[in-house]
Amino acid sequence: MSPSSRSIRCSPMRILVIEDEAPLARSIAVALESSGLAADVAHDGEEGEYLATTHAYDAVILDLLLPKKPGLEVLAGLKARRPALPVLVLTALGDVDHRVRGLDRGADDYLAKPFAVKELLARVRALLRRGNPNVAGAMVTIGDLEVDLAGHIVRRGGRILALSPREYALLVLFVNRRGEALTRTEIGEHVVDREFESTSNLIDVSIYGLRTKLGKPDLIHTVRGVGYRFGAEETH
Ligand code: CA
Repeated sequence: MSPSSRSIRCSPMRILVIEDEAPLARSIAVALESSGLAADVAHDGEEGEYLATTHAYDAVILDLLLPKKPGLEVLAGLKARRPALPVLVLTALGDVDHRVRGLDRGADDYLAKPFAVKELLARVRALLRRGNPNVAGAMVTIGDLEVDLAGHIVRRGGRILALSPREYALLVLFVNRRGEALTRTEIGEHVVDREFESTSNLIDVSIYGLRTKLGKPDLIHTVRGVGYRFGAEETH
């Protein structure tokens, strides 16, 4: 936690998606990222349980039918080792028995496939709100920039800006850690999916795009030898 964070957290919330269907996992991750959350994907139960218990996630989306380790076992393991970590269970097994077994083992919510991504996002936000009530309603104002983190609306000088999902994720990172010098590595972790290799170029493209759309005066300041700092003025 940064000392400069007040009512909101210092970095985007991070969600782990444990889902073996790669296209579905990918589309869930993209949807999470476009709503300003960071997402990682694990494609089997073992990898998922390992990541969830060794990294600081804010919530887990867990499929039940998984290779290497069944979702219900992963769920039991997570709840034993990280009881406060919210888990949304996702599965094709939409029948009552599986639902009851999932909830019995500590699932915080349950969504049957097929589902609308919009509904999944709404449920994830609800889980995150339970854990961290300040985040959902946060409206951040920096100079003439207004970022509505609940509504995902960005305005500068009263004008609504159309940002790409990656630019929005970058902006949320900057806003939550305004005034801090962020390294390119930290920025990369939040705006680039770890499956991509061309991290450096994507960071440059996202920063260029966001900087152009935000307009003048510039809010993204280059910190020589470090990376970037976000703010209405150079304070350091
Ligand atoms: Ca599956």
